[in-house]
Amino acid sequence: MYDVIDRAAVAKAAALNYFPERGQPAGRCRLCRSVPLTRATRSREHVPARSSLLGPPGDRAERWGFIPRGRPKLDGLASKVIQDGLQFPTLCRDCNNGVSSATAGAYGAFAQALQSSPNLLAPDGVARLVRVNRPRAVARAMATVMLAIEPEAFADLHVGLREFAQGVHESIEPPFRFLAYLVPDSKRAGVLQRFHGRIPVLGPGGEVTAGEISRHPFGWIYASGTIGSAYRPDLLTDVGDWFRAEGEDTGSTVALHTRLAGIDSVNAVFGGNKPGPTADYL
Ligand SMILES: [Zn+2]
Repeated sequence: MYDVIDRAAVAKAAALNYFPERGQPAGRCRLCRSVPLTRATRSREHVPARSSLLGPPGDRAERWGFIPRGRPKLDGLASKVIQDGLQFPTLCRDCNNGVSSATAGAYGAFAQALQSSPNLLAPDGVARLVRVNRPRAVARAMATVMLAIEPEAFADLHVGLREFAQGVHESIEPPFRFLAYLVPDSKRAGVLQRFHGRIPVLGPGGEVTAGEISRHPFGWIYASGTIGSAYRPDLLTDVGDWFRAEGEDTGSTVALHTRLAGIDSVNAVFGGNKPGPTADYL
């Protein structure tokens, strides 16, 4: 069957994504919600943080350099594929250069440590034991890039998540389950997938409502409800405590499994084997 259908068209139809009207204004900053995004005020948020990859820029470019079917768009604004990854023009300059740059730095330091630290296996002999020095700052960076790729309504709906990302709240009860994993250093790795639901039309165990952001070396899904068995939820680690912890932002250890994707983009699901980094039609 797959030989005769247009996979790209099917993937696009199935992505259930938000397609903005042509010429629709960019709205307001996803983080502070107060600054209208204009050519003068907006800046491009790296998703994920620019500093999260070790190695020369040429190597890093390959990680996102061949996302299928052109540059993803977000609310009418094209993302930019640059040497350091994807950027989305959805934060104002003050937020991007201020509150988000500090947490992005913590995320980058965590990711770089993952790439350079020795391989310690968890008691099950499969998962890897990983040290995170500033879990709250990493969680705030995770919240920020989620807000950067989601529609404005997402930021308005999840006020607590937004204020946690800004540092207004020390901790929150997260509105999603945050389920993390390690991403191998593979040219096939990398997923950008907005929050949406899937039904198990392709087989049992396919039910899930989640979004996903991942790139070597770290990725996570933000999910609510059931995660079908086909997605192997047993190989995902809940890191919700990074959002809940109060007091000093002290380090902890977590056991993470290595996998190419959590739920993957709809494009990849309909496109057969994962050919490379995948982003749905943002
Ligand atoms: Zn802002």
